[in-house]
Amino acid sequence: MTYATVLRKLSEDGFRQTKARRAIIELLIVSKNPLTIAEILRKLSVEFSLAVDKTTAYREISFLLEKQIAREIDFGDKKKRYESNIGDHHHHLVCTNCGKIEDFELKQDLQEEEKRISQNKNFKVTSHSLEFFGLCASCQ
Ligand SMILES: [Zn+2]
Ligand SMILES: [Zn+2]
Repeated sequence: MTYATVLRKLSEDGFRQTKARRAIIELLIVSKNPLTIAEILRKLSVEFSLAVDKTTAYREISFLLEKQIAREIDFGDKKKRYESNIGDHHHHLVCTNCGKIEDFELKQDLQEEEKRISQNKNFKVTSHSLEFFGLCASCQ
């Protein structure tokens, strides 16, 4: 799905497209790294000249999470980050020294494990999130 497809789908489903909503979707798609709310607010102001208050940003993000346009990532540093959920499925390599984040695709993803969980635990897996922590090339 692309930015245009997302917008078309939202309007087909009858959802409003405020400037803030469109800008946040675009930010998440374009950004190379998952963004915190503070970073989203800063980028909205600098790159889109949009003054969006925190409450609105949180509301928009929860809307995008609910629609599975965005996903939430927890790197264990008590900050929630958000990224687009409409590209390729991937994981993250997080440098615990400098904070650099890289995307990483597993050679074999976890479908087998998800199946096993469903069978053994009677738990319907709808998604998963997996991050790797360590030291990047320049921090080793
Ligand atoms: Zn590093
Ligand atoms: Zn995966």
